[in-house]
Amino acid sequence: MASPDGICVGVDVGGTKIQTVAVDADGAILGRDRRPSPAASGPSGMIAAIADSARASLLDAGAGERDLRAIGLGAPGQVDAARCIVLYATNLVGWERPVDVGTPLREALGAPVALANDVQASVTGEHRQGAGRDAASMLGVFCGTGVGGGLVLDGRLWTGLGAAGEIGHTVVRRGGSRCGCGRRGCLEAYAGRRMMEERARRLHHRGRRTRLLALMEQKGKDRMTSSVWAAALEQGDPVALDLVDRATRALGTAIASACNLVDVERVVVGGGLATRLGEPFLDAIRTAAEPQALRAGIRERIVMSELADDAGAVGAALLAGDLVR
Ligand SMILES: [Zn+2]
Repeated sequence: MASPDGICVGVDVGGTKIQTVAVDADGAILGRDRRPSPAASGPSGMIAAIADSARASLLDAGAGERDLRAIGLGAPGQVDAARCIVLYATNLVGWERPVDVGTPLREALGAPVALANDVQASVTGEHRQGAGRDAASMLGVFCGTGVGGGLVLDGRLWTGLGAAGEIGHTVVRRGGSRCGCGRRGCLEAYAGRRMMEERARRLHHRGRRTRLLALMEQKGKDRMTSSVWAAALEQGDPVALDLVDRATRALGTAIASACNLVDVERVVVGGGLATRLGEPFLDAIRTAAEPQALRAGIRERIVMSELADDAGAVGAALLAGDLVR
């Protein structure tokens, strides 16, 4: 049933999938759609797929285009939110140059368009509708391919000069492992899935026994996905145990340091890897954070994401709602 106040749609645009929700005025999910990203077709193909996904989510909500009040996008990379332009998104093919997403989507769907960085959208989702509800300050830490983060201070997303919240590139070990950003010792070098996979492959080539590569093949994957890591842990794979232990220790260090600096009420841990590995992963982070936190009670402050996979799409829909409120 269509909501009398109209519906906002939020789209989480990723390199592998487009995930979309249709929400009512209170942010409750009424409909959804999920489809693979048309990876090779460049910006115009992607924008067409976003519009199709938005329509499909409206249909799933028992609504139509006339019920759509606004659409929000969470996009990877750097965005100019005010002008609705994705400045660049290195993991999307053909998005190395600025792409105006606002104009074509407004024309296709007849509704205003909001744009945010995907991590900022996820932080907004968790803060307003998820595990960060009722917290005036929050740090979101999202462990997926990389490690993204965002800060809410005094109820508002803190973007600094534009790049605030990048906890993945805070240093947990001076001169430590090489990170994808080219620097050394970043949290992401230890807790980002891409870097964990690189290290697992290196250890395998050096002769360490691990089932990670076999499990990847068994599951028909070409990457070590979160489910590959989960399966390896279940089988007690020593390399997986080592690397996940290293990841949680690095996360605990970075989170404790961040809390020592900004003393947030809540730390919400999410993203594909954290969601898949669940409570044991979270608990290991808490245990690693505790001895490094100045203030007591950090264990209770570190909680699991409630929106999981939907955080980005829900956050984008809420930002769209702000346009028409
Ligand atoms: Zn880095």
